[in-house]
Amino acid sequence: MALFRDQVVVLRLYPYRDRDRVVHTLSRERGRLGLLARGARSPRGALAPRLMVGNRLEVTYHRGPNASLGTLREVSLVTDHQGLQGDLDAFASLEVMAEVADHLAHEGSPEPALFDALCGGLVALEGGAARRGLVAYLVAALAATGLWGGGGRCEHCGRPWTEEIRELAGEGHALWCGRCAGERGSPFPVGLLLALTRIAAEGVDGRVVLTGEQEGRAIRWLTGRVEGQSRRRLKSVAFLDVL
Ligand SMILES: [Zn+2]
Repeated sequence: MALFRDQVVVLRLYPYRDRDRVVHTLSRERGRLGLLARGARSPRGALAPRLMVGNRLEVTYHRGPNASLGTLREVSLVTDHQGLQGDLDAFASLEVMAEVADHLAHEGSPEPALFDALCGGLVALEGGAARRGLVAYLVAALAATGLWGGGGRCEHCGRPWTEEIRELAGEGHALWCGRCAGERGSPFPVGLLLALTRIAAEGVDGRVVLTGEQEGRAIRWLTGRVEGQSRRRLKSVAFLDVL
């Protein structure tokens, strides 16, 4: 069995047998990576506190050539989120970030841009502006996986915007011009699209400031695009009170 070393972020945890856990992670080198953590449910073990959703870890694991899971050997903590204690908004945002990465990542191929987007988003949570960090992360995660289409053109006919922009939920939340959409879909605010385009260019440290209402609208749209792509609901979004 081959031995691997990688940086990962914990995305989801599942109980397995009596004492073990299966850990879904996003790894820098291998995209979505499942790891078996032996003894991780033991309350006195050293593993449990390290294996929390959103924690960034340095791991060593064994994996056979045809195995679907690696087996964890060594885990060291790079960063955790103990500092968020009591900040429910930040925890809700953290859950959405992890679930979105779980939906978008592919197995077996490097995902450095998605990995960096996730790490950047998790760092932004610590700064007390969770929603802002979440919006910037969602834009970056969609860009990293080729799903950021919300730039300067209709996603149906490819013409630059000249009139109303409409969001088509049934077309994976694509943005179409009024001519293509007709009466279908719902209006999408031009100002918000411009702001998100700047956030896509400037990242989480940019100077664009959204209102709370704009943040909610952006999160609804961006998570809708993720769901349209993965064809699965994002359960964690229900915990954000933006809907
Ligand atoms: Zn069009």
